[in-house]
Amino acid sequence: MKEQLKDMQAYQAGLSPEGLKDKYNLDVDLFKLASNENVYGPSPKVKEAIQENLDRIFYYPETDVPQVREALSEFYNINPKTLFFGAGLDEAILTITRTELDDGDKIVTSEATFGQYKRNAIVEGAEVVEVPLKDGYFDLDGILNEIDDKTKMVWICNPNNPTGTYVTHEALENFISQVPDDVLVMVDEAYFEFVNQEDYPNTFELQDKYQNVVLLRTFSKAYGLAGLRIGYVIADESHVNNWDIIRPPFDIGVLTQVAAQAALEDQDYLKDVTSKVVTEREKFYELEASKHFYDSETNFIYVKADRPHDLYEALLEVGAITREFPDGLRISIGFEDQNDKVRRVLESFEF
Ligand SMILES: *Cc1c(COP(=O)(O)O)cnc(C)c1O
Repeated sequence: MKEQLKDMQAYQAGLSPEGLKDKYNLDVDLFKLASNENVYGPSPKVKEAIQENLDRIFYYPETDVPQVREALSEFYNINPKTLFFGAGLDEAILTITRTELDDGDKIVTSEATFGQYKRNAIVEGAEVVEVPLKDGYFDLDGILNEIDDKTKMVWICNPNNPTGTYVTHEALENFISQVPDDVLVMVDEAYFEFVNQEDYPNTFELQDKYQNVVLLRTFSKAYGLAGLRIGYVIADESHVNNWDIIRPPFDIGVLTQVAAQAALEDQDYLKDVTSKVVTEREKFYELEASKHFYDSETNFIYVKADRPHDLYEALLEVGAITREFPDGLRISIGFEDQNDKVRRVLESFEF
């Protein structure tokens, strides 16, 4: 086994609803607001597409993901060869990291961001520098200061998981213009469909100017396909060709491919569910307790708390399973009645 794995553990999933009920002696219906899934689920057309294709599941899937590739390239008006796929972004992050990093290389990111950037880098024997957040935001100047000759990648999660905050187009462009062009700037936009801000980056525009900019998006969050596993990356063709060398050839299943295509085609449904989520999100910011929240442009809210576990338990008592962090909780936005229960707890909790 690799030396660096000796201090690592498998991903720790939270307790199941049954496990939580036993541990906390609960007598309520539990609902999961812990992993930023879209509770409305995918477009009904996804279910139809899956049913129509059930007879094809004995075939291996097509390795090039041709229909989804074609649909995305039309949707974004980009060259289909600039698309790379993974069984979720999780796998894409793994494949890209495995391709790019050697022993002794370095990546730079922020503290309090998506954990897979760091985890995969460590597996490859790379050094990870995590620059502290600045009031809940990525400190882009701080990240710039850490880039040196050994640095191969920087990771920007925008909007960021778990804080929900975002960096503007101007700030991102200013940052990228100062990054050496042999360092990949990885921009993870897993939540961009929930963003409601004029100054949010147009990352495609930045890619036209800077070939080292890599854009990551997924069908898991807004499109409601977390259980089917497909994410995609847009990058210069030369990078995509390298990553494809080690991509597992059949990672995106037959039903996953038809589901993603159907989901992408139903933009009316996507707009409808994302606007419902945004309406619910705004209601959280009307609360007195919102002074404890970071500003969120996502389908979750980060609540800062000195005693996060007390808040976690108070929310469990009304049925909400949330995700605990050292200095707060992340609460995914659920159905209106679920959010109402959460909001009542937040209003009465003594921070
Ligand atoms: C959820 C998430 C992903 C991974 O999603 P997949 O389901 O693997 O596509 C990637 N980045 C961020 C920031 C996420 O929150």
